[in-house]
Amino acid sequence: MSKPKLAYYLAGGCAGCDISLVDLADFLVDVVSAVDIVFFAPTLVDVKYKDFEALPDGSVDVGLLTGNIRNKEHEHMAKVMRAKCKVLIAYGICASLGGIKGLVNLHSNQELLEKAYRDTFSTDNPSGELPSPRYVVDGKYELELPELTEARTLDQVVEVDYYIGGCPPHYEHVKAALLALLEGKLPPKGSWITMGHAVCEVCARNPVLRGEKKKPVGEVRRVIEGGLVEEECLLEAGYLCLGPVTQGDCGASCLKVNIPCRGCGGPIPGVRDYGLRAISAIASALEDETLVDRIEDPVRLFYRYSLPGSMIRKRLGK
Ligand code: SF4
Ligand code: SF4
Ligand code: SF4
Repeated sequence: MSKPKLAYYLAGGCAGCDISLVDLADFLVDVVSAVDIVFFAPTLVDVKYKDFEALPDGSVDVGLLTGNIRNKEHEHMAKVMRAKCKVLIAYGICASLGGIKGLVNLHSNQELLEKAYRDTFSTDNPSGELPSPRYVVDGKYELELPELTEARTLDQVVEVDYYIGGCPPHYEHVKAALLALLEGKLPPKGSWITMGHAVCEVCARNPVLRGEKKKPVGEVRRVIEGGLVEEECLLEAGYLCLGPVTQGDCGASCLKVNIPCRGCGGPIPGVRDYGLRAISAIASALEDETLVDRIEDPVRLFYRYSLPGSMIRKRLGK
């Protein structure tokens, strides 16, 4: 029997999702033996775009696309992946909701280029040169860079069959998701592949799991202020933990090392806008509404991983 064909493409991501596959350790050997990897760009397999594009449409069983869609090349390859793959999965929170790199949508591309190439303390660029989409080297070799767009989620460009959260996805969850894929035990199309529980439900700090009552949040504190206590619910202690609204497929990893959940797992089932749900959860937990004024940089707290996939999507106006 022929093996299922797999394609993988890294768009606007950091390659951390690729590393999440390496984290599978010995199970990765089983996966690699069970599938036929026809495309894995740009990190693993040297297959050129034109060779992948030449495959018949629908000839690849599963495609994983990681990273958000940040330029015209990503957009083109997302469309190619969609055409070639019977099942297309947004792998990781960048592809699913835009990811932390989606916060670029708070700025114009011109502002970002100015900051990166002219204004930073470490920049040495006396002529103020900015990258340009076209450049001719030695008067004869034309180089072309893909045009930047705003950051988008994969499903803002093509139809997506499944979503996997995490930045990057946790290896235990990746293993469960790959097994479900190989065994054909997938949820309905359009779903997140998730164990279905919130971070709070798997967090050892949760007072409810110890048979105690939750306390209202009486202060707002930042991690930088210190004072985080092991075993205590960080939200009750005033650190704005987003565990109540976040998928807990990571096993509450951050809480095990004394860091509040920042929401990389994506929304618990049934949530349309992660940031809005997070605002609602935190607002309803606060003892006193004046505490809202103590929340520093609410956009980066509540929309850290999901701005492009939210109803707002980007900064509107100045
Ligand atoms: S989800 Fe996280 S680990 Fe994966 S590509 Fe995006 S930033 Fe990197
Ligand atoms: S709010 Fe955070 S610290 Fe508290 S139980 Fe939930 S995940 Fe754990
Ligand atoms: S605890 Fe939250 S931020 Fe940390 S890995 Fe899990 S989902 Fe991501």
